[in-house]
Order: sequence, then C-alpha cells, then structure tokens
Amino acid sequence: MISMSLMQIDEQKCVACGNCIPVCPMGAISIDPIKNRAAVNGDECVECYTCFRGMSMENLNPTLVRGIRRLLKAFRLRFDPEPDVCPTSAITPDELSWPRVVRRAFSDPIVTHESTGVHGRGTEEVKTNDVTHRVGIGEVGYVVEFGRPTVGVRFRDIERMTQALAAIGIEFEPKNPVTHMMIDKAIGKLRPDILNEKILSAIVEFKTPIENVPAILRRIEEVAEILDTVVSVGVSTRCDANGDSSLDALLPEEGFSSVRGKTNLGLGRRIMASS
Ligand code: SF4
Ligand code: SF4
Repeated sequence: MISMSLMQIDEQKCVACGNCIPVCPMGAISIDPIKNRAAVNGDECVECYTCFRGMSMENLNPTLVRGIRRLLKAFRLRFDPEPDVCPTSAITPDELSWPRVVRRAFSDPIVTHESTGVHGRGTEEVKTNDVTHRVGIGEVGYVVEFGRPTVGVRFRDIERMTQALAAIGIEFEPKNPVTHMMIDKAIGKLRPDILNEKILSAIVEFKTPIENVPAILRRIEEVAEILDTVVSVGVSTRCDANGDSSLDALLPEEGFSSVRGKTNLGLGRRIMASS
C-alpha cells in the first residue's frame, strides 16, 4: 500500500454512515461499496479541511456501531448519527508535504498564506486601496478569480491564463499568493511541481491604465473558454468627487455587463499629521 500524505478516513473506525459526503465541497468523499467504508478521492480533494473541522467528532466504538446498524437493518430499522457528526472520529488529517500542502494553503480559509500574511485566498485585493493606493487615478485593478466550491481549479489552468496575460504585457501584483508561485513573472510561468495540484479557488491580480480594459477583458474571456474551471473577473477604479466611475459607462459600451458591487468610502485612508 502506498502511504500518501492527505486527508484520510480511517477504515478501522469508519462505519459508513455517509454523513461526511454532503459536507465535502468537492464531492471527493464516497462510500466504497466493496469495503463498505468511506474513502477520499485524493486527486479531487483540495485539503480544505471542511470534513475534519466542520463536523463534530464522537468516539463511539466502531464495532459496536456496526453491530447495532446491522442488527437494526435486519428489522428494517436504522441507526444514523446526527447529520453533522462523525460518530467514530474516523476523519484523519495527515501532515501535508510539498507540493500537496499548497492545496490547503489555497483552500482552507483559516490558513494564512506565508507570502502575504493574509488568510483565505491570501489577498486583500483592492479592498484596502484606501490605505495601499495600489490603484491610482486613471488606473484599473483587476481580480481574476478561478474556481469555486464543487468546481475547483488546477494550477495548470491558472498558468494558462497568467501566461496569456503576460504575453500582452501584464505585470502581476507582487503581494499575491499566485504571483508568489511564479518562477518567471515576465512570462507568467508557475512552479512546475504545483501544476497538477487542485485547489478550491485562487485570485490573480494586476492593474492597467483604464483604456486597456476592453482588450484585457476580451483576452480573459477567450482564455477562460478553454479552461476546465469557472472564471469571474472584478475590475475596480477610483471614483471621482461625485462618486462616479468611468467604468460605469465604459463596460456597457464595450458589451460587458457589470454590477457595481462595492464602493469604499475612504474611511481607512491615512491622514497626514499637520505640523
Ligand atoms: S462521517 Fe465518519 S463514520 Fe460516517 S462515513 Fe464519514 S468517516 Fe465514516
Ligand atoms: S479536505 Fe475538503 S475536499 Fe478533502 S475530503 Fe475533506 S471536505 Fe473534501
């Protein structure tokens, strides 16, 4: 048997109640009909730890639980634990090693990204622009989001997009976990040892002058068509004194539907002390 460092289900403990199956956002857990035990599909599992952390663990005796379940079944009755409980604490995370650990870094919302010090997907995006001034006047900040629960994304698909964007002159935001995984930012090339790793979601960030928006969005649309995941794009810019944004007119003119999702009011801006 090959020992792999990944989320495991202890066959000695599992009583095949099936409670963990709907908890997994990737559909990576199933009951093996031959063994009558739950098992994790290691290729699809993104190490989000939802099954381990999201369920209560009880320590019932597995042999006893199986015996009761078999006995009741004979009388057409059932013994099922509460739906949010693994009755025998069978879900067993392993210490993850490289490159698998990258799955958890991008999928477990409570893990902090070492590269940015931010948890979740590891980026503050332009939400903190009031303080960082990442996106200046006349510029547009982009967040290109890959994957979602039930879909996920492999780094090789993210790389297809980063390479296409680099080819049209994009410079990637340095304070971003995907940028941190690049071995050559000029061509958008990611570390080869992570390309097959699957994660729940990731964000690529960059900025351009506002006039480049239509060409950039069209290129993203073209590349997204060939990826085995879902892609959504956010663009943000600085409002004028009336709260208006030049994107409000530009996007519909260019045939892109958009919704203004959020307006930061500048409450977090730095105030210079007067001397
Ligand atoms: S919840 Fe626990 S006992 Fe039930 S199927 Fe999942 S791992 Fe097995
Ligand atoms: S760690 Fe996440 S993806 Fe993996 S089996 Fe558990 S819930 Fe599913």
